[in-house]
Amino acid sequence: MTDYLKEECGVFGVFGHPEASNLTYLGLYALQHRGQESAGITSFDGKCFHIHRQMGLVADIFKHHILEPLKGEIAIGHVRYSTAGSSNIKNCQPFLMEYALGGLSIAHNGNLINDVPTRKRLVDSGAIFQSNSDTEVIMHLIARSPLPTIEDRVIDALKEIKGAYSLVILAGSKLIAVRDPNGFRPLCLGRLGRAYLVASETCSFDIMEAEFIREIEPGEMLVIDNRGLKSYYPFDAEPKRQCIFEFIYFARPDSFIFGENVYNVRKRLGELLYEYSPCVADIVIPVPDSGIPSAIGFSQKSGIPLELGLIRNHYVGRTFIEPKQSIRHFGVKIKLNANPSILKNKRVVVIDDSIVRGTTSRKIIKMIRNAGAREIHFRISSPPIISPCYYGIDTPTHNELIANSHTIEEINRYVTSDSLAYLSIEALKKAVKNPDDFCYACFTGKYPLKFPKEEIEQLKLFRREEE
Ligand code: SF4
Repeated sequence: MTDYLKEECGVFGVFGHPEASNLTYLGLYALQHRGQESAGITSFDGKCFHIHRQMGLVADIFKHHILEPLKGEIAIGHVRYSTAGSSNIKNCQPFLMEYALGGLSIAHNGNLINDVPTRKRLVDSGAIFQSNSDTEVIMHLIARSPLPTIEDRVIDALKEIKGAYSLVILAGSKLIAVRDPNGFRPLCLGRLGRAYLVASETCSFDIMEAEFIREIEPGEMLVIDNRGLKSYYPFDAEPKRQCIFEFIYFARPDSFIFGENVYNVRKRLGELLYEYSPCVADIVIPVPDSGIPSAIGFSQKSGIPLELGLIRNHYVGRTFIEPKQSIRHFGVKIKLNANPSILKNKRVVVIDDSIVRGTTSRKIIKMIRNAGAREIHFRISSPPIISPCYYGIDTPTHNELIANSHTIEEINRYVTSDSLAYLSIEALKKAVKNPDDFCYACFTGKYPLKFPKEEIEQLKLFRREEE
């Protein structure tokens, strides 16, 4: 019962570097915020594939003796938090298989919405699955395609599936990167000397001082081999539906995705929050770390000084990855502490990025009140979350989302703040350059991709279980 939306996954790929696995390790290290359950790397040395996948954090898994055997100049990697498929080693990525054209390894960020009927069809025709991950459905479709080249097979397979996917594929001596036609998840192209790099976010390039070339476009497939890089647009064009929550919370603030720097967008959210929901206060404090850029924006716009009234302990994992109920119970206190010398007798504006269930917010407000704050005005730099995400973000069910069944006034009473305001969708759209290019479904309940019949039945079952 965690109180955060959980990031989905991060992917990374290298083509043409003698230290491909070591670079992938660094790239994954920078993407750790996108998934903390498991990590894996596949490399190809010109003859053989090498792979290591394990539950845990990147730095804990990839010691020198693990990286050393991952030889070759091409490698892909993945960090994962389970969004589809349960949390166990069988679902760790990258996946690696042998098929008619040789070896194939895939790392996937996103979530398919028609994997249930596709998997059923494949199983009915004799396919054997090793995991319950939707990514394995893509691998089966590639393996079963009758087309002669890997590029054609990938296109053939992806034309059968719907949903969110940013894929990095290691196919022998080729590295293929594909982003779904709606572009739900980010995917970026970089260069380090003569090597090409592909990553979910540009912060991966910065860690190795690589050059960011450009984003891979929605619906684009890049094929990188010894002859260079080729770009294809093999799918029917769709409207862009990039995940607005990447800007609000998921992506690292130093990354450049969807045409903008994440920090700048987050800061604008804070400025807009003050414009639309001003209040009189002595200090602005962020809920660290994700609330910091918006709190800076709010403070600069309002002229109310910014203070760090909540201090985060960076040496504990995020609350939601802790495995036991007993630990989770203390999660907020382990992670955050209020600073009474900043808060005592102050009228405080608290800035957070979102409210999911409300339980963590309630604990934070209580902590600030106990530290002596006189008034607490809670400001949220996103609209109320009323619907789950089916495109690669692990969200609680409808009933667990507090804003799905409670008014803002009721939520204010529950979290015990003196006032509560969210950013409106109208204001959120003002924070980005191209507001029509985004998905807002978790705030509106209007999903940009229609679910197939079987998935709708599953969702109905899912909702019945919630009730
Ligand atoms: S539903 Fe929300 S979290 Fe999911 S892709 Fe759309 S904006 Fe992102």
